[in-house]
Order: sequence, then structure tokens, then C-alpha cells
Amino acid sequence: MTKLLIKNGYVVTVDDDFTIYPKGAVYVKNGRIVEVGDSSVLEKKYEVQGVETIDAQGKAVIPGLINTHLHSGIIRGTAEDLPLWEWISKHVDPKHKVLTAEDAYVASSLCYGESLLAGTTCVVDMYRFMDRCADAAEETGIRAVLVPYVADRPNYSYFETIEDNIRLVEERHGSANDRIHVWFGLEHLVYCTEEAYHRVADLAVKYGVGIHTHGEESIDMVQRISRKYGCSPIQLFYNRGILGPKTLLAHCVWLTPIEMELLAKTGTSVAHCPISNMKLASGVAPIPAYLAKGISVGLATDGVKENNNLDLFEEMKFASLLQKVHHLNAELMPAEETLRIATIYGAKAIGLDHEIGSIEAGKKADLVLVNLRRLHMAPILEDDYANIVANIVFSANGGDVDTVLVDGKVVVEEHKLMTVDEEYLIDKATQTTKALIERRRPFVPDAPTIDDIEV
Ligand SMILES: [Zn+2]
Repeated sequence: MTKLLIKNGYVVTVDDDFTIYPKGAVYVKNGRIVEVGDSSVLEKKYEVQGVETIDAQGKAVIPGLINTHLHSGIIRGTAEDLPLWEWISKHVDPKHKVLTAEDAYVASSLCYGESLLAGTTCVVDMYRFMDRCADAAEETGIRAVLVPYVADRPNYSYFETIEDNIRLVEERHGSANDRIHVWFGLEHLVYCTEEAYHRVADLAVKYGVGIHTHGEESIDMVQRISRKYGCSPIQLFYNRGILGPKTLLAHCVWLTPIEMELLAKTGTSVAHCPISNMKLASGVAPIPAYLAKGISVGLATDGVKENNNLDLFEEMKFASLLQKVHHLNAELMPAEETLRIATIYGAKAIGLDHEIGSIEAGKKADLVLVNLRRLHMAPILEDDYANIVANIVFSANGGDVDTVLVDGKVVVEEHKLMTVDEEYLIDKATQTTKALIERRRPFVPDAPTIDDIEV
């Protein structure tokens, strides 16, 4: 039985009332939070023999951040300055043609390690060969919702099949003390047949798991799909039966009011990827409108090839600033709401808000200690000028993360990964990427355009 008291921290619970304890403590037993409160009270109650302690003096204690849309990957920084579909044709699909299970293992180990070091305790990862991603999640200690890239249109036979996805659900869903979940994944409307959607809708109900796919991010593709099918992409998802409270759509940049109503009506959630949307020049997702309609929105980085890092602190800042400048309204997406999106709203978007997303008694102890003793985090003030939340959202970055716990287990300490060897991962990723790029070379088109993609 593991008992742990984190004391003397600046505890930001992100509970319904946004309770903050400037000198707070969290008591954890067997991986779950037992009590949160003032440090003096909890120390008297729990600081007894056999209880481990972490002194969080000079640190904020926040819920682990939740990344609701990630593609593990290793081609960071090699696919720059292209719009979305040209970028997919030139760099992404050719890579998928030659990707191996070992590449996927190295990529997911790298990405899960990077995520943990930046204070992300839970990722929704859409990727390939995901039994090896499950191995990487087990080893690194991250909480992961694994969603294979399923595609069944004839041009995409190198992707995962629905049968692969079923096998992964049967073999790994609920494994590692329920730290690993497996959902059904569909790459995108242009990669999958209509039958695939109907089948996945039925299978998700049968297995009681979620569905994850890409909502539209590029206006060009929205128009092409609408022309071909006579309705918008979200309407098409609805007609094909996949919208619902266990479905999470990435991006959703170009939605009409009718499509927003469909998401609200069905309880479908959105994974918002502001940096990816800016970098690939996709557009600005109408997040304030989604929130106003009661649509669950989580924050996400997308992959290292479209971001180019997995730092959700950075993502929080971009998410807020993007809406402010886009609407010329500085009141939009304040720090408190943005931190909710990165934590409890993200948990809700993936149906885990009863387990994670805030620091409350009974929840799993997915906790992050952020170093406040940094020049760029000073001053930390209280009362009328209390700025802890503003500093976490707008001043901090992933490099400020000191300690990370998942399921009450310390996986990062003094900003060092405790579960896997960082130096080994860096070398292995470099070596793996070089070989992958060489294997990909014959498949890279000279001058791809969006017309290369069959809708
Ligand atoms: Zn994506």
C-alpha cells in the first residue's frame, strides 16, 4: 500500500469552484487522491510513519494536462511551410507506406516521454502498430487512449484495418491498471469507406469504447467533400452514425451553425489544436462558440510534425491568444477557462472526468508539480493581485515541470524521466528517423497538390 503526502505546494485543484490552496497538500493512497486541503491540516493528519512525502515548497501542484489529439512521430522539423493536404501528400502518406512497428515503438516512446516531461499525463494518440505504442505507454508510465489510424479505401491499404483495431481493443483496452484505453479510429473521410463508419459505430457500442477521427481542418477539403457528397463533413459523420457522447473529433475548424448544433445535440466532443491549425494555415476553430453551446472541448498538440513540440503549456497560451486576436476581444478565453480546457474539460471530452482532470478526493493521482522559483514565474502574488493561474497559463512552459505522477507513481522527478533513458531515446529516434527518411525517398512526389487526393 503506497501512501504519499505532497505538502507545502500552491495547489490549483481545477475543481468546479476552482479552489486554490496557496499552502496546500494532497494525500494519495494506492494511486488515488484521498484528501486535498491546507497543508497544516493534512500534515497533522497524514504525516506519520510509513507515509512518503514530497515537499512542494516553491511549486504549483496542478492536475496532469490532457492532450486530446496526438500523432506519435519522429519526423519533427522535416516537413515545414506547406499547407495541409500538400504536406500530407508529400511527407505524411509516403512515410506511412514504409513505417514499421519498431519505428512506431521508438516514435511513441519519444512522444510519451516528451509529453510527461512537459506535464502531460494523458494522451489520445492516433498512430500505427499500436500494440507497440501500448508497450511504450506501459514503459514510460503515461496514461494513453490509443486510437489506430484505420483506413480502408483502396489507395490506403498500408494503414491499419478494422480487424487490427478490434484485436487491439480486445488485447489492450483496460490494461496497465486501466491506464491504457483503446478506441476505434478512422483516419479521415477521404481514407475510409462509408461501410467503415457504420461498422465502427456498431463496434464502439459493442465494446463500450470511444471513436476518434478528424473533423475538418482545411476549408478546401470542406468544399470538396461538400461538393462530392452533397452535405458537409459533420453531416456526413452524422449520417454514417458515428456522432455521439463517446466520439471525439479533432480540429473542427470550419463548422457551420448547423454542424455545431449536430455536435451539441449528439454530445460529440472536439479536440482543439491551435498551433497545428496556425502552422498549416488551416484556420481558427470557433472554440468560444463551441463552449457556449455546451460542446466539450479538450486541448491538443497534434503531432511533432505539425506543432513542433508536445508542450501543452505553450498550447494553452496560443489557444487563448488566438481567440483574442481573431475576435479582437481580449476577454475571450481567460486563463482559468484555458486551464480547464487543458485539464477537466479534456477529461470530459474523453469520458474520463470522473477519474482525472482535477485534484479532488477519489480521483486518480495524475499530478504535476510546476517550479515557481523561476525568473519568468516571479512574482507570485495573492489576494487582489493573485496571479498563479495567469502565470501557469501565460508564463510557464513545459521546461518548468519538476515532478509528474501518474496513478500516484512518480514518473518525472527534478525534470528527469524516471521510467526510460532519455539519452538512449534521443539517439534511437535520430537513427530511426534517418533510416525511415531513406526508405521513404522513392515514394515522395515532386510537386504534390490537393488535387492528388481523391475525395
Ligand atoms: Zn490529426
